[in-house]
This record gives sequence, structure tokens and C-alpha cells, in this order.
Amino acid sequence: MCPLSENRTNVVFGSGNPDSDVIFVGEGPGQQEDEQGLPFVGRSGRLLDELLGEIDLRRDDVYIANVVKCRPPNNRDPRPDEIEACKGYLRNQLELIQPKVAVTLGNFASKLLLRTDTGITRLRGNAYEWWGRLLVPTFHPAAALRGSERVLGAMREDFQIVRAIIDGKLTRREQDPVAEPEDEVPDPEQLDLFN
Ligand code: URA
Repeated sequence: MCPLSENRTNVVFGSGNPDSDVIFVGEGPGQQEDEQGLPFVGRSGRLLDELLGEIDLRRDDVYIANVVKCRPPNNRDPRPDEIEACKGYLRNQLELIQPKVAVTLGNFASKLLLRTDTGITRLRGNAYEWWGRLLVPTFHPAAALRGSERVLGAMREDFQIVRAIIDGKLTRREQDPVAEPEDEVPDPEQLDLFN
């Protein structure tokens, strides 16, 4: 049994439109998400809603999920065994939703799903071929809330990439290709995620 289940209030499975072209993937629930059982309902979620609005989307138009479905204590990064225990849920969400584009929010989810130790600052600004669809890595809204206009501006640019993919104006990106994952969600120990 995953240790995260012991202290959770609610499982935060995901929310939104399961027929959406877009899935957002965060790291894991925080305190408010744990209390309400819904992803991105705190301050980060309000900023996410605002950024969605700027590309003409509402929360109900997209699907929102996290790498792990239960809150890690004190919002620490999820551990490899916790990711392993939870990865089947994210895989099934992707298989059911079949999004055109997956948007990873923050360093953790981006590095994990793209199997890379390259940080989000370098990864962002592009769409990557990923499992027969596109993946757009961007900053976590919490990073923008920490006060950097530069981060917020970069997120706005990344959301425009998402809009272009939804509109069919961007179907493939060749630059900085990232190998397709062999396994569903890769082993984070191979990625130096915890260094
Ligand atoms: N941060 C995340 O990564 N996910 C949430 O659901 C909330 C905050």
C-alpha cells in the first residue's frame, strides 16, 4: 500500500472534461486539494484558471490531474515508490482521455514525464513528441506566484503553444526531440530528480 494513503484526507484523482484535447499534469495535491478532493483549488489553481481564460478555455474544458493522487507530507516531492504506486492511474487517465496535448506543470512533472534531467527553464517554450501526442512543459503556477513576472510571461507563451496545438496549427515539433518513454512513467531515480 502506498504510504501517502495513510495521511490523506481525500484522494485527488483529477477533474474536468474526460473528452478534452488537453490534460494538465501537476505534481501532487497540496493541503487545500487534499481537503477538497480536487486538483489545483488553491492559489496556484486560481492562476491556472486565469491562464486558461487567456487562451479561451475554462477549467471544465480541460482535464487536470497530478503525478500522485494523495498529498505528500509538507508538500515534499513524491518519492519513487509513491510514483510507482500511482503511475497506473495517470497512465489510465491518459489512455481514456487521449488528449492531443499534455501540459506538465513544473519541474517535477516535466522532468519525470519527459525522462530528462534537463530543468524546466530549458525545457519550456517547446512542444515535444511524447507517446504519439505532444507534451508542453511549463512552469508550475506556484513559481509564478512567488513573484516573477518573467515566469508568468513564459507561462503565457507556453499556453499560446497549447492553443496552437488545440487549433491544429502546430502538429509536430522536431527540435530537442526527447525519446519516447519505454515504460509508462519512468523511474525517477534514473533522472537525478532527487539530487
Ligand atoms: N500543486 C500541484 O502540483 N497540484 C495540485 O493539485 C495543486 C498544487
